[in-house]
Amino acid sequence: MILPSLEKVSQRFGVSERGYYGAFGGAYIPEMLYPNIETLRTVYLDILREHSFQQEFALLLRDYVGRPTPLYFAQRLSELYKTRIYLKREDLNHTGAHKINNTLGQILLAKRLGKRRIIAETGAGQHGVATATVCARMGLECVIYMGAVDIERQKPNVERMRLLGAEVIAARSGSQTLKDATNEAMRDWITNPDTTHYIIGSVVGPHPYPDMVARFQSIISQEIVQQLQEKEGRSYPDYILACVGGGSNAIGAFYHFLDNDRVTLIALEAAGKGIHTGYSAATTVLGRPGVLHGSKTLLMQTDDGQVVEPFSISAGLDYPGIGPIHAHLFTSGRVEFHAITDDEALQAGKLLAQTEGIIPALETAHALAYLDKLNAQPHHVVVINLSGRGDKDLQTYMGVPQERPH
Ligand SMILES: *Cc1c(COP(=O)(O)O)cnc(C)c1O
Repeated sequence: MILPSLEKVSQRFGVSERGYYGAFGGAYIPEMLYPNIETLRTVYLDILREHSFQQEFALLLRDYVGRPTPLYFAQRLSELYKTRIYLKREDLNHTGAHKINNTLGQILLAKRLGKRRIIAETGAGQHGVATATVCARMGLECVIYMGAVDIERQKPNVERMRLLGAEVIAARSGSQTLKDATNEAMRDWITNPDTTHYIIGSVVGPHPYPDMVARFQSIISQEIVQQLQEKEGRSYPDYILACVGGGSNAIGAFYHFLDNDRVTLIALEAAGKGIHTGYSAATTVLGRPGVLHGSKTLLMQTDDGQVVEPFSISAGLDYPGIGPIHAHLFTSGRVEFHAITDDEALQAGKLLAQTEGIIPALETAHALAYLDKLNAQPHHVVVINLSGRGDKDLQTYMGVPQERPH
């Protein structure tokens, strides 16, 4: 059994001692939260380096999550685009997306910290389900905060979380969506620092969360290295494409290639109805530096620094910022960022369904849509991180209007 490599691999783009990626990152938190974050910061690397931790993580990734996920050569899609396209099948993970790589890693860490109770925030419910799943597996109490509006909009995921034994608490302040759920979760953690671990769902939040989540997701690129060596006789591709909400699936796919300049890394954001329509989540185009959820990053904000409500047809990309590592990868020029509209994503998702028999999540469809614009040669190797499956998005694919908060 190959152990996950949880080490920092890039000096240029890895986290600094103080939790920064270039000008971004850090821990901008209320004083009340300082002890929780400080405990985590001082112990997380020691725990990740324990052999017994890596073994338990590896075993569960294999037998519970279903890893390694295949690196699938998409023959018909490759013929269509006249290049060599591989799909990294994170959609085949237990619970249908990459998110469980992180929730599993964090709950094993929480157990070693002696925590009995897990809290998390969720928007569309995908991170809530991945968290409730690992809590059931480990027998830990699970409380999920979710905006009251989101609870109405995402009933099937609420039912899944409850069936898994989680308590779902409605956040009734503000717009009653994700940011309000995040506030409630923070409040809970301040009240219960000794018993509780807060599982954040992407490479966002105060240090050490972005680094911790990136390391847990780096299993994706660790596997790609080995699988490409087997299939192509070289350990790296020419291009890697991944969608970005907070950026956890993308950094997972990029991680072991960050210092290999022969690999062009491309991140796809959601342009929603169009970048400048007021209904968009294209953070690198519209965003400016600011503090969001405890870290300095690029975020969509008004001139007075109020967060602008993002918009995307895919709930997972509907986030007003990006993780601090992505802000650094963007400003340093290491990763290209492009924005894909709702309509482009829908078309790309349908195309994959009908050429390869794989229905992708709408988030993932943003990465697939970039194939139309990528100028790859016939001998080039292109890897697309297929972050999740599209069963949850059937109604949207079918054109049933979804209730949105705008
Ligand atoms: C949550 C989610 C995303 C967006 O989150 P990242 O942290 O940017 O990866 C993308 N794809 C799927 C399938 C998701 O569930």
